Amino acid sequence: MLQLRSYVGGRWVAGTGAPQTLLNPTTEVPLAQASSEGVDLQSALHHARSIGGPALRTMTFAQRGAALKAVADAIQGEREALLEAAIANGGNTRSDAKFDIDGAISTLLFYAEVAAALGTSKFLVDGEGIQLGRSARFHGQHISVPRHGVAVHINAFNFPAWGFAEKAAVALLAGMPVLSKPATSSAMVAHRVMEIIVEKNLLPVGALSFLAGSARDLVSHLGAQDVLAFTGSGETGAQLRAAPGVVKNSVRINIEADSLNAAVLGPDVEPRSDMYELFLKDVVRDMTQKAGQKCTAIRRVLIPYAVAASVREDLIELLGAIRVGDPRFEDTRMGPLASREQLAGVREGVQRLGGRHAFGGVAPLGTKGFFISPVLIEDAGEAVHEREVFGPVAALVRYKDDPGAIVARGSGGLVSSLYSDDQEFIEGMVAQLAPCHGRLFLGHPKIELSPGPGTVLPQLVHGGPGRAGGGEELGGPRGLAFYMQRVALEGSRPVIAKLLGKS
Ligand code: NAP
Repeated sequence: MLQLRSYVGGRWVAGTGAPQTLLNPTTEVPLAQASSEGVDLQSALHHARSIGGPALRTMTFAQRGAALKAVADAIQGEREALLEAAIANGGNTRSDAKFDIDGAISTLLFYAEVAAALGTSKFLVDGEGIQLGRSARFHGQHISVPRHGVAVHINAFNFPAWGFAEKAAVALLAGMPVLSKPATSSAMVAHRVMEIIVEKNLLPVGALSFLAGSARDLVSHLGAQDVLAFTGSGETGAQLRAAPGVVKNSVRINIEADSLNAAVLGPDVEPRSDMYELFLKDVVRDMTQKAGQKCTAIRRVLIPYAVAASVREDLIELLGAIRVGDPRFEDTRMGPLASREQLAGVREGVQRLGGRHAFGGVAPLGTKGFFISPVLIEDAGEAVHEREVFGPVAALVRYKDDPGAIVARGSGGLVSSLYSDDQEFIEGMVAQLAPCHGRLFLGHPKIELSPGPGTVLPQLVHGGPGRAGGGEELGGPRGLAFYMQRVALEGSRPVIAKLLGKS
């Protein structure tokens, strides 16, 4: 069986001890094993800080960007094999697998373009200089420089390629070395991506390390110049935030966690209109793409009472047409959940939400694999605003007035979406919802090839307050700030000008 190894200290290291077995969630056949036991985590971090960091900092933004482009091209070159791995280890349909692998490639390419625009500099000049005294000589200027530590990335199971790439691209471009740890259950794709990067020698020594298996006490070794970017459950995020090493050293931490994303159908939208059809399409896509295992998937479907019966009926019909099964088959629209634990968690979560099942249920589908049908819940209680069920599950919530107040009960989210042509309604909702979201998706049928609210674009920030973890990633050059230290230079104007390379 394939043994996933860690790449630390500039070499591949096999773990010792009892490994975790990675399964094919469709067939339950074991595919690979991983263990991080015996991997010297402290040395791994030291190598990244002392070898990878200096190497990256000698490079200009443009050079770092060229390396990102080379990584994107290399992934593209092995795209077919990576898609196969995502189908086997993640239970992805081909379309789900493309979402992950192509998302990784396009994010790397996007940051290569950001890098080209930043040019031959090695740090960022932040805003205009400021005259601080009566004379122009007393001057201030903010700059941002790469931190001298290591960026530890701990990723969730659902996007092994994109999760790896979206974090690594930004950190490497900022000039920080990375140690990336994928979720173990779906780590085959990220492991292969790492092998490709190492085989082709695409990054400076020490710039990128990889940990296969459990994180063990990794975060306890982090120091004041290190940063930690985590994506996963709110529970693990809270543990990491409170970890003694993180607290003691004020380790900068970004958390991307749960979210009860809402889709709101405006009171102005008539059944059968283009806006109405777009709303239905986005809800069904979000419920079933990657079997609902997307942090941005719609979990709460807010509909006016007047059209509730129509929406309910239409969603039931559309969900009934979703073929659940072996993701290798072309006509399969939804594969299994990613692991046995996921299946158990989703079943338990659906029961906790309560209410009635307008469509689907938690009964096992078939005798092998971690399959569940999409589940549309109605008449549930407050639990739908409190509990994220990370699977193909959404709740219908009928509203009379003030849908914004209902959405806000989710306590902070990654993205919510509005479907309306009523500008006054949109303005009111944006004012109400903007403070508790990282992104608002304003659906419109005239937008060609609209990706829906579930797709994270690197141009826009990703993250959200409260339940969503309080983090922020991506957003073009904005994402670099997390990996850089902003410092104010205060002194004589000519001296500062010379430091910035201006005569
Ligand atoms: P998880 O169980 O919290 O695991 C996430 C990652 O943390 C994995 O790599 C896991 O490693 C690691 N981990 C677990 N315990 C740890 C600890 N004590 N110290 C250090 N690392 C630890 O979450 P998941 O089940 O993979 O992902 C599902 C959740 O992620 C959902 O709640 C979803 O909403 C959220 N999510 C959020 C976003 C976002 O961008 N906001 C994106 C995707 C997913 P092992 O696998 O080795 O245990």
